[in-house]
Amino acid sequence: MPVRILDSNVAAKIAAGEVVDRPASVVKELLENSLDAGASRITVEIEGGGTELIRITDDGEGIAVLDLEMALERHATSKITHEADLETVDTLGFRGEALPSIAAVSHLVLTSRERGSEQGAFVRTEGGVLARKGAVGCPEGTSVTVQDLFFNVPARRKFLRSVAAESGRIHTMVTQLAMAFCHVRFQLVVNGKEGFASPGSGSLRDVLRRVHGQQAAEQMLEIGASDADGREAWGLVSPAGLHRANRSAINFYVNRRWVQSRLLLQAVEEAYRGLLMDGRHPLVALHVYLPHDEVDVNVHPAKREVRFHHEGSLFSLVQRAVRETLVAESPVPLVSPGAARAGSFRAFAMSAESRQSVAGQGELALGVIPPREGPRASEHTEATTVSNALPALRVLGQAGGTYIIAEGPGGVYLIDQHAAHERIRYEQVVRLAGERQPEVQGLLEPQAVELLPEQVQVVEQWSDTLSAHGFRGEPFGDKTYLLRGVPAGITNTSADRLLMEVLALLSRAQDPAEAGASLAASIACHGA
Ligand code: ADP
Ligand code: MG
Repeated sequence: MPVRILDSNVAAKIAAGEVVDRPASVVKELLENSLDAGASRITVEIEGGGTELIRITDDGEGIAVLDLEMALERHATSKITHEADLETVDTLGFRGEALPSIAAVSHLVLTSRERGSEQGAFVRTEGGVLARKGAVGCPEGTSVTVQDLFFNVPARRKFLRSVAAESGRIHTMVTQLAMAFCHVRFQLVVNGKEGFASPGSGSLRDVLRRVHGQQAAEQMLEIGASDADGREAWGLVSPAGLHRANRSAINFYVNRRWVQSRLLLQAVEEAYRGLLMDGRHPLVALHVYLPHDEVDVNVHPAKREVRFHHEGSLFSLVQRAVRETLVAESPVPLVSPGAARAGSFRAFAMSAESRQSVAGQGELALGVIPPREGPRASEHTEATTVSNALPALRVLGQAGGTYIIAEGPGGVYLIDQHAAHERIRYEQVVRLAGERQPEVQGLLEPQAVELLPEQVQVVEQWSDTLSAHGFRGEPFGDKTYLLRGVPAGITNTSADRLLMEVLALLSRAQDPAEAGASLAASIACHGA
């Protein structure tokens, strides 16, 4: 077959296929034009899933009467002039392809009145061919009406889904742009009824209220980070307890352009690793700002994909930003130096109220204290604090009735349930002792405990500490102690044995802090 240059009409249709493959992509292109024109209010009306009607009206700068027809020509654009401009383009459009592509496959009316101009004008095309044009009275701004989309491309029409599905895609498209341009008021009207509206307040959270609902939006966590090379990441991400069954609530913007990006997705998923169950996905509205020379947006005709020049730096910026926020918000208590000194605990559970906050999600956050190294108090005073705080773990099950098996960012964790419970008790005992309000369990009958002379001394020396932790009683003669009450909640030992154990611990204590801590540890252990 001889080689021929395609008829311009056929070429236009092919090009159209690349830019507009369905109603939602028409909406996207037209919305981007409105945004590039500096609109602060944009209304999108659709009927029949966008195939019958798409009308986008904005209050942007408008198009001069003399330029109106030209705007429908291929490669006609006001946004770039030279090849070099491609490097620094900061408008959403620049290829000059959208209007002619849409016009080629629909009945289109472009109406506009340039800001400050007396009158507006319109152009009507049918399948890309000029049908009518003239002057018209209209408000400042631009309106594009697209009817009978793909009327001349039956193959394309066949590939469209149901009206509801196509409307849904348009809805998603509008919300995606609304999250990028929070100061713009978007309104979507579907078959005459409002389907979505953003307030244009400039707040991303306000937009998310309309997209994900009030409750979810309130819970979302702010992230923000930048690096020395001028890269920035900011936005809102869901806490570990808020998630979806698919990735549809994950939106990325690079220099305000919505993009699909494997790299950014991996960075975010890495940040959530161990925090979400398999098959659950976070809600994310993440903006990335990059210096122009670090990103190439001219990779895909619909500009859905971009290329990054420093993938590693971007990955770690985003991963860190999200991870740090999640870890900071995760309900894991910090290990205090005092607690580390006191305990032989290998694991602890979080406090009751934070447990409640995630209980609804079937998750339990737990942390682990490194095993005690030895009795040298000086070592423990260096706070093994923040670094020991663990993110929320997901409970997988139980082994041998003793260990909780959980999954976390570092792998699988075995948590000694007894130790975990002990830890909660310990915190409680320490707190109440500090307030001198221990929970006391009175004995029905005072119990006489025989003491050795050195034990009598210990009782005398530490009588305050004993009483602060819930021991009640008094010496009776010189080698007997009359025990009247013990700390509440002791379940696995008798009152007199507990006293003996405690006295042995106290005899080795160097100072009140150590005495209190070992007492609390012993009480916690016997109550767990
Ligand atoms: P591009 O956006 O890549 O420049 P388009 O085909 O989408 O190409 O639009 C062509 C030109 O028409 C734009 O460069 C712009 O000058 C003008 N234009 C299109 N839509 C609008 C609008 N809503 N408001 C103002 N000007 C517009
Ligand atoms: Mg455009």
